[in-house]
Amino acid sequence: MNNGCDKPTARRMTRQRRIILDMLRADPSHPTADAVYRAVRKRLPRISLATVYRNLDLLDREGLIERVRFDDGPAHYDGHVGPHHHVRCVVCGQLADVPPEFCQLCPGELDRSTGYELVSCHVEISGVCPKCRQVRRDEAARNEQTGGRAPQKQK
Ligand SMILES: [Zn+2]
Ligand SMILES: [Zn+2]
Repeated sequence: MNNGCDKPTARRMTRQRRIILDMLRADPSHPTADAVYRAVRKRLPRISLATVYRNLDLLDREGLIERVRFDDGPAHYDGHVGPHHHVRCVVCGQLADVPPEFCQLCPGELDRSTGYELVSCHVEISGVCPKCRQVRRDEAARNEQTGGRAPQKQK
């Protein structure tokens, strides 16, 4: 997605920071700092977790990435900084972007119904991700096969 956010803002972008930024922009999975660390280490084997945290923090403050946090979970990092909402899986904690049409309805709608001008918007949407839904479907199918009786044989 192109939001015109690619203007060269960072003056002294270190190689580490560039690699972390590029990685986040190419990764739609909204990784946690730990996941960023594991991925970045493949390219910079000697980088420390503290350095990854510091760079994520700087990138966030520069507005080049977005830190996304649902109240009880770890922070996730997003290379896509345009206004958008996230849906979080209640089973595995994975985040996904909500399609932009969803937020574009908000400002006008809010103004019309409350008279408020929208300044910022944080919506917490929970769901079950496609992977976890598949696991649930498989489990349900297995339970159906055994008819609720104790499973005696494995197939
Ligand atoms: Zn899930
Ligand atoms: Zn996102």
